[in-house]
Amino acid sequence: MPAFTTHALENGLLYLTASPLCVGGLAHGFSTRLGGVSRGVFAALNLGLHRGDGEENVLENYRRFCAALGVEPERCVLAKQVHRDDVKVVTAQDAGAGLLRPQDYEADALVTNVPGLTLTIFSADCIPTLYFDPVTRCIGAAHAGWRGTALGIAAKTIAAMERLYGAKTENIRAAIGPGISRCCFETDADVPAAMRGALGAEAAPYLQRGAQGGKWHVDLKAINRHWMLRAGLAPEHIAVSGACTACCTDLYWSHRRMGDVRGSQAAMICLGEAP
Ligand SMILES: [Zn+2]
Repeated sequence: MPAFTTHALENGLLYLTASPLCVGGLAHGFSTRLGGVSRGVFAALNLGLHRGDGEENVLENYRRFCAALGVEPERCVLAKQVHRDDVKVVTAQDAGAGLLRPQDYEADALVTNVPGLTLTIFSADCIPTLYFDPVTRCIGAAHAGWRGTALGIAAKTIAAMERLYGAKTENIRAAIGPGISRCCFETDADVPAAMRGALGAEAAPYLQRGAQGGKWHVDLKAINRHWMLRAGLAPEHIAVSGACTACCTDLYWSHRRMGDVRGSQAAMICLGEAP
């Protein structure tokens, strides 16, 4: 069974890895709130720049998380997330974009086959997803809020890996990280309507209505997994985190619980040289 493992370092840093991505020549991880230097409402591992936290703190947090994963901050490439479904093809000239210099793109998903570049996406309830094809050696990372989930950004990221690098879906491994679960993702009818618009009757198992025609509860992680299976990924190649960011605010940033004044988690993935 694909599973997540929690790693606790001596400096207090806590992060997760997913078994389908724990293979030679690949670094990856999902951050938590723990192990950074930020203070107050940003304590402690805030990896979101431009959220009101001090830039020096955020950069130190990046150094710590990158050191834990064994990747270089100078070669991180950050998503610029706008809740759409564009997939950016990342090349060597993008190294440092969004962290050490401005981005010239907007994209919720990133793909590359260049070793050493670290694809980085952010979340605080939204669903972080990471992808790896060990045969053609390409990787992807996608941020899926409810809009991205309805747009099928998971399937579009996989399609980009097939089209650009020749990846075959039966080889692709994926991880769906900590995010808001069905217990806490309570919505009006617009969110279920968007899921039905995208998936038709296939969306039904993931949409639950509360008692007396109340709010809906939507399982975004399961819908992202559904998109992956529909694209052709094998169930044994997909890990899904059970951690709900809105239930566990001592461990995770949650937009629903904290609002705009909060930090962000990051999910990172980086190809090394072939083992
Ligand atoms: Zn919850």
